[in-house]
Amino acid sequence: MQSIINSFINIRIRDIIDILIVAFVLYRILLLIKETRAEQLMKGIGILLVLTKLSEWAELYTINWILSNAMTVGTLAILIVFQPELRRGLESLGRSRFFTKSFVDIRTENMANVVDEIVEACASLSRQKIGALMVFERQTGLNEIVETGTKINGNVSADLLINIFIPNTPLHDGAVIIKDNIIKAAACFLPLSESSAISRELGTRHRAAIGITERSDSLAVIVSEETGAISVAENGNISRYIDPETLKEILLNMYKPKNGKDSFLKWRSKYGKEE
Ligand code: ATP
Ligand code: MG
Repeated sequence: MQSIINSFINIRIRDIIDILIVAFVLYRILLLIKETRAEQLMKGIGILLVLTKLSEWAELYTINWILSNAMTVGTLAILIVFQPELRRGLESLGRSRFFTKSFVDIRTENMANVVDEIVEACASLSRQKIGALMVFERQTGLNEIVETGTKINGNVSADLLINIFIPNTPLHDGAVIIKDNIIKAAACFLPLSESSAISRELGTRHRAAIGITERSDSLAVIVSEETGAISVAENGNISRYIDPETLKEILLNMYKPKNGKDSFLKWRSKYGKEE
């Protein structure tokens, strides 16, 4: 009892700060993994820990040996299995406003023209039922993806975009990567999403769009060749049957200088039919 009282008496201000910071970081990590597949994993690890301690206490040496070894191997397995999540987490740390200087965009006006061109292209492709896939690069660099395709580095225009996706032409197969007002590349290969929550109706084009938005902060626009429907993917979520007006709003919002929160949530609840 005396030692507990002593340790309270000896608490310094910096100990309190230390504890508060750790508590805050833990809280943020819990928020990050909440409702992701990491949540189950953490529960699993929790159970393993409890069992290890129980077996130690009960002096069940064989079980304890197996469990504590499983924990060691498990740590390594977590790093490998959750490499995409860890990478995203670190990237979002690097992107956070705290570490990047906020800047006011003077490009917004020019971007309105760019958005008009993109929307015109999508509307036209949709009418003609020509399949298309466009990825808008934001803070996460997509150069690895650009490497898989054919470099273009041309200004965004509706004509160019439509031309790229005309069936049976060399560049129509795959995704176009757009950064600001530049079409960086076409015919790029995107990583497919492995999510089991994606509707069966959606094929590889849509899976590829969802896949890239799971791994980066990019936004993807898909035009279905089967239905002509326009969809938008962001953060691994897809909203289908977007009309050109809404698409315009989404793209304008994306090109606007941002303060923190993701645009997706704002319009998803308003318009989206989420899958
Ligand atoms: P749609 O509604 O247009 O038919 P879908 O989701 O059903 O789309 P598929 O019919 O499988 O998809 O579309 C195949 C096309 O999607 C391919 O021809 C290719 O252009 C594109 N695609 C498929 N996989 C990828 C990928 N990993 N990266 C980029 N583009 C891809
Ligand atoms: Mg299809």
